[in-house]
Amino acid sequence: MDLYSGHINKLIDELSGLPGIGSKSAQRLAFHLINMPGDKVNRLVKTIIEAKENVRYCKECFTLTDSDRCPVCANERRDHSTIMVVENTRDLAAYEKTGKYEGVYHVLHGAISPMLGIGPGDIRLKELVTRLEGNVGEVIIATNSSLEGETTAMYISKLIKPTGIRVTRIASGVPVGGDLEYIDEVTLLRALEGRTEM
Ligand code: ZN
Repeated sequence: MDLYSGHINKLIDELSGLPGIGSKSAQRLAFHLINMPGDKVNRLVKTIIEAKENVRYCKECFTLTDSDRCPVCANERRDHSTIMVVENTRDLAAYEKTGKYEGVYHVLHGAISPMLGIGPGDIRLKELVTRLEGNVGEVIIATNSSLEGETTAMYISKLIKPTGIRVTRIASGVPVGGDLEYIDEVTLLRALEGRTEM
């Protein structure tokens, strides 16, 4: 039996397909949206469409940005010979928030996971290798300390070692399986300063 109208059911269906939104949250959000003033709903929809149409990958580090090069890559004062490899744009933002890292980044958009069928070809690894042809002195691997993050770190390290470029891994004071974005700035800085050779 359908408790709600077809339109509400459809909305709940779409919302529950979003990450972290269970069926209860989807219902709550759907009713909230229905009760919102029309102009607010229009603004939300417009914002989503504009973001989708205008956000693109930085052509150097592949983070999500509004222009060809992100503000970090476009900043000539940053140390472009030090590349920190992170799993996603949120991790980049977490390190940027510390305000202490002066190098640039490389965003993989995922991690290797044999369990989920995600291989090296499914993340931005080829692009990282291409960047290493430039003037690079150190690659800091800052993938998460989850199984996938560690697998990815090992893979990258093996990939880079033959080039003679220094490869380091952030210290594992970071809680196991913890997403970088949820870790406080002090812990992030400690992990960066305590990085070790791979
Ligand atoms: Zn960039």
